[in-house]
Amino acid sequence: MSDERRPARSGAIGNAEAPVSVTLPVMASQRIRTYGDPVLNTKATDVTDIDGKFVKLCDDMFVAMYDAPGIGLAAPQVGVQKRFFVYDIDDEPGVLINPTVTESDGDWVFEEGCLSVPGMSFEIVRPKQILVSGIDLDGNDVTVEADELFSRLIQHEIDHLDGVLLLEHLDDDQRREAIKELNARKVAAEAERALKASSGGLQLP
Ligand code: ZN
Repeated sequence: MSDERRPARSGAIGNAEAPVSVTLPVMASQRIRTYGDPVLNTKATDVTDIDGKFVKLCDDMFVAMYDAPGIGLAAPQVGVQKRFFVYDIDDEPGVLINPTVTESDGDWVFEEGCLSVPGMSFEIVRPKQILVSGIDLDGNDVTVEADELFSRLIQHEIDHLDGVLLLEHLDDDQRREAIKELNARKVAAEAERALKASSGGLQLP
C-alpha cells in the first residue's frame, strides 16, 4: 500500500491530501472512523465524569490526531458518543468538554477538510469569531474566545458532536459530487483489499 503523502493544503482541519486508502500506524489505539460509519451521524451526549479512564481516552485521541495528522479530533470520530474534542493549534494542545457556542460574529471562508472525510476539502463559510463555554480537563468551567482558524476548528468539532459532517454545509450539487467520489473510492479500496487477499498478501506485478 502506498504511503506517499502530498503536501497538505494550507490549514485544513484534517489532512485534506491524505491518500484514500491510508492505514493508521499500529501505535494509534483509536481508529479514526470515516464517512459511512453511522457513529458520525449520531448526536453525542454530555460528558458527566472526568476520571482516569476519560483522561486516558483523551491521551489516545491525541496520539490518533497527531498520527493522522490533524489539528482537532472529536470523540465520535473514534466511536465515542460523548461531547468533547481534543485539539492542538499553534502548539497549544487542549481538550474542550461539553462545549456550547454562546456568541458568534462575522463570516469567514476557509477551505475545510476532515479526518473522517479523507482526501477532500471544501470552501465553507462559517462565523469568523465565536465565544464558547465548556469544561476543561481539570473540570473547570472555561470560556474561550476564538477567531479564524481556532474558531473554525471549534465549530467543525462541535458539528461532529451533533452528528454533522462538513458535507452537510455544501450545496446539493457539491454534496452529490462529493458522495459519488467517496463511494467510488470505497469500492476501489475494497477491490484493492480483495486483490491482496486473493494473492496471499503479495503485491502483483
Ligand atoms: Zn472532522
